[in-house]
Amino acid sequence: MESVDILIIGQGPAGLSSAIYTARAGMRTLILGCAPKVAGDYEIDNYFGFTETITGKELIERGKAQAAKFGADIRCDRVLGIHQDDAGAFVAKTEDKQIKAASIILATGVSRIRPGISNLADYEGKGVSYCVSCDGFFMRGKPVMVVGEGNFAANQALELLQYTPDVKVCSQGKELSISEEFLYRLEESNIPVFEGKIATLAGDNGLEKVHLESGEQIDAQGLFVAMGQASSSDFAYSLGLVRNGQFIETDRDQRTNVPGIFAAGDCVGRFLQISVAVGEGALAGRAAISHVKERRRTLLDKEAK
Ligand code: FAD
Repeated sequence: MESVDILIIGQGPAGLSSAIYTARAGMRTLILGCAPKVAGDYEIDNYFGFTETITGKELIERGKAQAAKFGADIRCDRVLGIHQDDAGAFVAKTEDKQIKAASIILATGVSRIRPGISNLADYEGKGVSYCVSCDGFFMRGKPVMVVGEGNFAANQALELLQYTPDVKVCSQGKELSISEEFLYRLEESNIPVFEGKIATLAGDNGLEKVHLESGEQIDAQGLFVAMGQASSSDFAYSLGLVRNGQFIETDRDQRTNVPGIFAAGDCVGRFLQISVAVGEGALAGRAAISHVKERRRTLLDKEAK
């Protein structure tokens, strides 16, 4: 398995700024993610030092070039899930592979896509979940459905097989963007995928059925929401990070409550601006460097004993 010191999830201003610090400090740094929303022809004229207007695209390109100059490895790949192994390292599963990291910086921005089911909130904690590793266990042997159109949803559905063989995927009316490889694995695992749209949920003591717009009703005691790509909230659920609504709580140094995991930029939700993302990225980078150095010392001490 590929192993790095610091894995940064997000190629926006926060992630790139973190990488400039971590790579420059000699840390093996990998940045995953793809073009952030601001990387278009949007005119940015409130960022420090640019008297002439710069486009978001150019600013991001410059940030990428700067991070690469110091040795950061930058790849367009999406993270589907993260877990911590027994030795305290983090393992991120991407669309392509698994990557081990001593520390992770979450710089994923904010993008949670809601499925648009009218009474979804009524069933949260009563069958509706955002985290397979947290709630899959409660669904042993029960019919469950994953709502989502992409590889994130496909991966969640496959993970649910540990708990129940009765898993379905509903794209919620969106065009499917599941890769050939994931489609093959779903088919092989007898997980049906359909492009219908759930209108409402039903059940007296918790979720029992989903009602589709077509009028069809399907048994489901668990409904796992996995629209679009995994967001910081999804990582927060599975890692046990403290949140404030959809945002991740951090201290002044961008530390989360889980040692080794840091967060910066829009996903922290302070002031959703490039300048703030860049500043928080620098702080997160510095804190992650300290964490990796401390971890190395601890591992060396253990080996010496
Ligand atoms: P983002 O820039 O949102 O980057 C998030 C990154 O995370 C992306 O690379 C994405 O691919 C990645 N990611 C997300 N999920 C995953 C996953 N599961 N796996 C891998 N990668 C993932 N701010 C200003 O200060 N001035 C402006 O003029 C201004 N104009 C704006 C115009 C537009 C159109 C937009 C959309 C925003 C604008 N903003 C502006 C706000 C600014 O862009 C954000 O505050 C800033 O980009 C936040 O940076 P970030 O690094 O936290 O997140």
